[in-house]
Amino acid sequence: LHEQLQKLAHLPSETEDGLQFQLAANISSVKELDQVIKNGASGVGLFRTEFLYMDRNSFPLEEEQFAVYKEVAVRMEGKRVVIRTLDIGGDKHLDYLALPEEENPSLGYRAIRISLDRTDLFKTQLRAILRASHYGNIQIMYPMISSLDELRKANEILAEVKRELTAMNMPFNSNLEVGIMIELPAAVMISELLAQEVDFFSIGTNDLVQYVLAVDRMNETVAHLYDPFHPAVLRMLRLTAQNAQRYGKHVSVCGELAGDIRALPIWIALGITELSMSVQSILRVKNSLLQSRQSESSTIWEELSRCPNSSSVVEVLSKYIQADL
Ligand code: PEP
Ligand code: MG
Repeated sequence: LHEQLQKLAHLPSETEDGLQFQLAANISSVKELDQVIKNGASGVGLFRTEFLYMDRNSFPLEEEQFAVYKEVAVRMEGKRVVIRTLDIGGDKHLDYLALPEEENPSLGYRAIRISLDRTDLFKTQLRAILRASHYGNIQIMYPMISSLDELRKANEILAEVKRELTAMNMPFNSNLEVGIMIELPAAVMISELLAQEVDFFSIGTNDLVQYVLAVDRMNETVAHLYDPFHPAVLRMLRLTAQNAQRYGKHVSVCGELAGDIRALPIWIALGITELSMSVQSILRVKNSLLQSRQSESSTIWEELSRCPNSSSVVEVLSKYIQADL
């Protein structure tokens, strides 16, 4: 089975009737790059940089971060590499950053909220990413954006770092694309506004499902309620895709759902053709993609939109899922 799947690595990622997809990889360290390349990923759709900050005693210095980002950019040889700025807090901790004790960490001080507060840390990371952008096709992504103001503040800091690098004659890609994670219901609901000020969206279904359904993604007791196929989630995915498409912006999905072949008909129905997933899922999704048909997309959404609950969503999806391996 493994060998049969491996043969697909060099085939194009497209439906049976020719709709092109990009199947990228989520990574958290350079160690994963061998597998990413071997499995023919179209790029790195999500580099979770927090792992550079974890399991150590102090913040990684600019040079250290630069070396890592540069290595990813170089090894991906011009393929798209989306570097997400620090997404700490919630379920991820740093021993050397004393975060406050919180009753609800996932609703607390985390991700972009920390970056906009600790601009020293944020600027160091942005400088390292920008410098590395000279060596490949790097793009920046902000996590946990909830408002236009947060996006604008982050972009102001980015512009400031760019000015500083220019003044120091440090090369960087001045046209580097900047996008955001869509993983909060608020971001979905204002995606029309956000789409006008970003280059791309990447939908983080892991957190989005948690926040839409008010189900802690780490809590075993309510794990049975954590349901990516809930009709509320489907509607959020659709609204996000429509607003991105309306303003001609890329939209991808980088949560676990992207690597779940059951969800593939949803992406086809919504015209979402960029997916980023754990490297082990890429070939399995490609196998299923190669047997899918774009021509069914409008029928799929018609049926999905009429589903009253998640079990009927799963039932509709099962009719369209093709997988022989
Ligand atoms: C997500 O929330 O879907 C996501 C991709 O990010 P993380 O799992 O790192 O929170
Ligand atoms: Mg997330």
